[in-house]
Amino acid sequence: MKSEFLNEIWQLFERFGDNQYGEAINQREHALQCAELAREDGAADALIIAALLHDVGQFINDAGDAAERYGIDGLHEETGAAFLSRHLPATVVEPVRLHVIAKRYLCTKDVSYEQGLSSASLLSYRLQGGRLDENGMHRFESNPHFDDALRLRRYDDGGKRPSWAVPALETYRGMIESLICR
Ligand code: FE
Repeated sequence: MKSEFLNEIWQLFERFGDNQYGEAINQREHALQCAELAREDGAADALIIAALLHDVGQFINDAGDAAERYGIDGLHEETGAAFLSRHLPATVVEPVRLHVIAKRYLCTKDVSYEQGLSSASLLSYRLQGGRLDENGMHRFESNPHFDDALRLRRYDDGGKRPSWAVPALETYRGMIESLICR
């Protein structure tokens, strides 16, 4: 059961990890850089794995191509959260689900944050609905995973550096395994 789930994750990275979705680095590099930023930040294992797998929904149902190719929002955060929730706890799943709304939150709070987004991130931001209204801001702030979602968002934005070599996917196998809860 555990090993099947791990295999599924590894196969997704094998098949789709080289895809770029409009960024300067590919999805495997992006995932690994985000996980490394979480590790350097002293994040708990669950948040490190959330950082590693936050975009796994891009690999399912062509979601990753949605914005660039079709001009629609592929809802990869929901697809990814659903995939991960089969075996991983809410401390992994919820920050993944919330990493898009976290971007919308930060853009609404701070114009300079929006200006710092990559162009692919800005494109998807517009398709994802842009700024939040007051109600949306409050709802997100009262979510128990609010802090972790914002931390994950910072790793997501930072993990886009060309030629930054970080530890490989295999490094995280044991950590994922020990988080598997069902
Ligand atoms: Fe990302």
